[in-house]
This record gives sequence, C-alpha cells and structure tokens, in this order.
Amino acid sequence: MKKNLGLYIYPETLLQLRGLKPIKAIADFIDLRNSIHKESTIPLTRVDIGEFRSVHTHTYLDALIRRSQGKKPEINPDLSMECLDLYDFLPGYEYGLGGICAAIDLMKKGVLDRAWCFALPGHHAHPALGHGYCLLNTQAAGARYAQRNGFKNILIIDWDFHHGDGTQMIFENDPTVHQISIHNAVDLYMNKMMMTHLGYTTYGKQAGHCNIPLLNRTLGEDFYFHEMGDEFSGELYNAGNCMEAYQSALENLPFAPDMIFIFDGHDSHTDDLGREITDWKDDDFKFLAQAALDVAGKFGCPVISSPGGGYNTTTLRRLNELHMAILEDYQR
Ligand SMILES: [Zn+2]
Repeated sequence: MKKNLGLYIYPETLLQLRGLKPIKAIADFIDLRNSIHKESTIPLTRVDIGEFRSVHTHTYLDALIRRSQGKKPEINPDLSMECLDLYDFLPGYEYGLGGICAAIDLMKKGVLDRAWCFALPGHHAHPALGHGYCLLNTQAAGARYAQRNGFKNILIIDWDFHHGDGTQMIFENDPTVHQISIHNAVDLYMNKMMMTHLGYTTYGKQAGHCNIPLLNRTLGEDFYFHEMGDEFSGELYNAGNCMEAYQSALENLPFAPDMIFIFDGHDSHTDDLGREITDWKDDDFKFLAQAALDVAGKFGCPVISSPGGGYNTTTLRRLNELHMAILEDYQR
C-alpha cells in the first residue's frame, strides 16, 4: 500500500548536537513523533561520505574527512567560524543523506509519496565552502542522487529566513535544478561573507533561479539603497507581497518537476527572526507547504522535506509538528 509519509531519523546525529539547542529541540520532538508513527519510519541507511562528491569538490571533501580524523589536510577547507567545530558531525551527514536516498529509492518504486527526512541544515554549503552552520549540502546531494535514479527535473523550495546561497551556487546555470528561495534581503551570514548580492533577484535570474528577498516593512527601500549602495539589484519584496511572488514563482516554473525538495526553515516565523520582515505566523507556513504540495499534485511528483533553521524552540517544535501533519494528511 502506498504511504503518504515516510519519516527518517538518525538518533545518533541528534545526540551529537551538543551545543546546538534548536536542533536538540527537533530531536525531542522526533522522539515523541517516532513513538507515535513507528510504522511509517524509513529504515536507517548510511551513505558513504563520497556520495557528497556529486556536489562538493574532492579537495574540500577530502580536507573535511582528514580534519574529522584528526589529520592535517594538504589544504585547509574554506570554512567560516561557526563551521569549525562541525567536523565530528560527518557521520550525521552520512545518515542524513542516507535517509533522503532511502526515501528516493522508495519513491522510485512508487511506494512513497512524501518523506520528512531529518538532515543537518546544508543550504549555505557551497561546492568548496562551508558557512552558516552548514558543512555539507545534504539536500543538494539528495537532488543529484534523485537525478541518477530517473527524477530529471528537481525543484527546491527554501523558505528559511536566510538565502539558500550554497544550493544556488551548486546548481548555478544548471537547467535541471530550480531553486525558489524566500529570504531576508539583508542576510546576516551573507553579509559576513561579503556575498549579499547572491540573494538578490538579478543574480538569481542570471543563475537560473528565483530569489525573493524581503525588506523590513518598517524601513522602506530608500533606507536600504542608502545603506547598502550598489549591493542591491533587482526587485525587492516585503511581508505584504511575498506570498504573491511565491505563488507566481510556482506558477512559472521553468520545467515540470519530477521531484520537489523543501527546505523547511522556521527561523522566518514572526516569533523567531521574521518579525517585520516576513511577519509569518503558523497559517503562513501552512500556506507555503500546501502551495508546494499543490504543485506536487499538479505534476504528480514526490516531495522530500527536511528541516532548516529555527532558533525559537517553542515555535520550532510546534511548526515541525504542523509541517509533518500537512505532509501526512494533505489531500488535493
Ligand atoms: Zn536560516
């Protein structure tokens, strides 16, 4: 019988997440959820770390592996400060991608429509650069695995508060993968890395993707142009018109998707970082997810969702539960 939702969890990943309190909150939630939905859990699978070579350079990956083994790499991996302590998490990435690949295997057989796969957030991880707490880009590697298994056109929808810059760079000028990223126009991580321009509409279009950068609704465009000068280029949005832009992006896809990935970041909630920028409440996340599932229904394609960022643990827990319920119960 076809299942609506497969859940994938690797408990050891969660135990490793020492200082990362928000992710630990997901872990607590998963324990609860897992005990309720044991029958729909995808079996534990671990991929070889080499599976990440589909989206990261050999030099970068080899350097991470050597670091995780306590050895000095020939060339240090290009990492921002917040990624320096993540070497120990490599097994977690192997299991995170393992879950996504296991879900894809079931989807290929036609026995699974939707999956929620716990994986460490990866949307800031570039081919040879880790930043914003993202060492490896698990969803991007999942997209490549899906393509090798017959799912040609991949749509990635990212509503995390921060721009999916790593994913965009990995699939830059790749007409078979299209990312829609809604994010704060002044991205903290991107500012720090001097790569703010990557999140703007102009750059997104040039790279074959759709960026929907949002301004703080209380400040207005003049403030940003004055503060940021030439950094801004292309169209900018705000809390009032971002959903319209999102719907328009979904209605104007460059292809019929064969699989949809969702990067379900909850830091964009108004009780987290989104106040006066997204202003999103629970119902808005419901809308975002349902609109994505409407597209999946229209094209008859499977959906894999993984959690993104989130720093308000109360909101995070509630929204994960809401998101899973939508994935499980959605009927077109
Ligand atoms: Zn984020």
